[in-house]
Amino acid sequence: MTKRPQVYLPDECIYSCSTCHSHVACHDSIISKVSSGKHGPGYLVDEVVNVGMGEREERVLPSGPHIIADIYCCVCHATIGWKHIIASKEEERYKDGLWMIEQTRVVKERL
Ligand SMILES: [Zn+2]
Repeated sequence: MTKRPQVYLPDECIYSCSTCHSHVACHDSIISKVSSGKHGPGYLVDEVVNVGMGEREERVLPSGPHIIADIYCCVCHATIGWKHIIASKEEERYKDGLWMIEQTRVVKERL
């Protein structure tokens, strides 16, 4: 397996993988804080780094059925959340293309 070089975010306040502390998202990328994570609350963000994406699948979330793909840390392979690909409900479409990171899988860090 080839190891991709890690991306380091330049921001002062970032979220990193709770397992290996690789940078995942800037605090500024957060669009909203949501309560529909698999393991509790999460953050809806418009940009992530150092993550890989699994197979797309249909999953029924509290907000309805969505086509999503799990995302994982590309350094330690811990699952971090998922990418919203297509929502079936019109009112959930604003999430399409956005990333959901679970609060329990990331830690907030001030650099
Ligand atoms: Zn990690």
